Amino acid sequence: MKLIEHFVGGKIIPGTSDKKGKVFNPATGEQEKEVRLASKSDLDQAVVIAKKAFDEWSLKPSLQRARIMFKFKELIEKNSDELTQLIVAEHGKVYEDAKGSLTRGLEVVEFACGIPHLLKGEFSENVGTNVDSWSIRQPLGVVAGITPFNFPAMIPLWMYPLAIVCGNCFVLKPSEKDPTSTMFIAELLYEAGLPEGVLNVVNGNDKTVQLLLEDKRISAVSFVGSTRVARSVYTSAVNQGKRCQALGGAKNHAVVMPDSDVDSVVNQLIGAAFGSSGQRCMAISVAVLVGDALAEKFIEKIRLASNGLRVGAFNNADNDFGPVVTREHKSKIEALITSAEDDGAEIVVDGRLFKPSDDLQGGFFLGPTVIDKTKIWMESYKEEIFGPVLQIVRVETLSEAIQLINKNAYGNGCCVFTGDGNTARIFSEEVWAGMIGINVPLPVPAATQSFGGWKDSLFGDLHIYGPDGVRFYTRRKTI
Ligand code: NAD
Repeated sequence: MKLIEHFVGGKIIPGTSDKKGKVFNPATGEQEKEVRLASKSDLDQAVVIAKKAFDEWSLKPSLQRARIMFKFKELIEKNSDELTQLIVAEHGKVYEDAKGSLTRGLEVVEFACGIPHLLKGEFSENVGTNVDSWSIRQPLGVVAGITPFNFPAMIPLWMYPLAIVCGNCFVLKPSEKDPTSTMFIAELLYEAGLPEGVLNVVNGNDKTVQLLLEDKRISAVSFVGSTRVARSVYTSAVNQGKRCQALGGAKNHAVVMPDSDVDSVVNQLIGAAFGSSGQRCMAISVAVLVGDALAEKFIEKIRLASNGLRVGAFNNADNDFGPVVTREHKSKIEALITSAEDDGAEIVVDGRLFKPSDDLQGGFFLGPTVIDKTKIWMESYKEEIFGPVLQIVRVETLSEAIQLINKNAYGNGCCVFTGDGNTARIFSEEVWAGMIGINVPLPVPAATQSFGGWKDSLFGDLHIYGPDGVRFYTRRKTI
């Protein structure tokens, strides 16, 4: 069975621990690979080499650092088919979906090519008689990234291209569920000319993260994952004097106003709720329907559209979405659907009944699920389900919809569908979430903005990538 090792100093190094994680093909349910989990000495080796590389790397002109990213971008484009195949084989999402996520990651690499412009600093002439003053931004040192399973290529690319062009060296701990594409992209960065030790990938699990947080040589940590872990990583990092941004889970609401075009909304929500099996932190998981007249029409249309979706393996281009990532995750989603049913919600479309084709019986499949008459006290509403499940809450007014969103513990993204400019303005002004869509179901900021939620969806002050990413990976000095 293929064993995935660590990638340190520009080469694969065999780990020293006997502990290994299992990597599955979620479409068949079979374990196809294993991944070495790092020992303390494996991590130490990565940090030592990163720290050593920092001395020279941080002094290189920023334009020279950025130049490597131009080449890196070309190599990702050249290898995009192979990379996409690696993502789908371990994550289970369909090919086009995986390819799209790679493109979003690539856009951050393109942003990183222009970072020297953002490192120019600020200058004030004659702040006192014959005294000038200026501010510059300098790198932090060795910084670390910890990433989730759902975007194994894109989310690491949210982090290290910026950190590296800003002059830092990086230690990445990807998800142990699907690390191969992450490793391959790191190799491409070395092919683009990165000096030894500037980027290092150490595979591991929660224990590796603990070791990383305790390591005093690491100055900052970017984390993306579930809220429970984000909160604890943030607390632990900050207590140990590290700078930290920890992005957590989500429960993203789409408010559908009575004046919206229902056919178009249903079409958009089908993709936003069920694409990637709902395993996106920006997936729409709750539709808030304003007014009963709209609700009846909407539910009938979403029932029809959901029943028309094709679920199956990633290698069939006709499929709309694939399996979820593990057997355990599938059971968790099923249990939350059952709890909604037990709590009195109405299952309009039941994904638990989905039967995959004969060759995929062992796969971690669930069909699309639509749950009407959801109440905010239900466990299924309070929890992030992170599966192909759309819950419906019915309200009477826009103000009720906004209050509902503001009471929710999460605040990643949300959107409103309306034809009325005033409604759009009130919604975007009053709602407590970090990323807002107006007639746009997945308001993921472009690479030139920054990405981040509010409330339990982000711990820390700065959002990820874009201008906030540059602020996070540098510190100001005023002369
Ligand atoms: P996860 O929290 O289980 O794991 C994320 C990372 O943390 C992995 O590298 C994992 O090895 C590590 N980890 C797991 N348990 C840990 C622990 N107890 N202590 C320290 N480290 C630990 O998340 P996941 O299941 O891989 O990813 C799905 C979650 O990520 C969802 O909640 C989703 O909403 C969230 N997510 C958020 C964003 C965002 O931008 N806000 C983006 C993508 C995913």
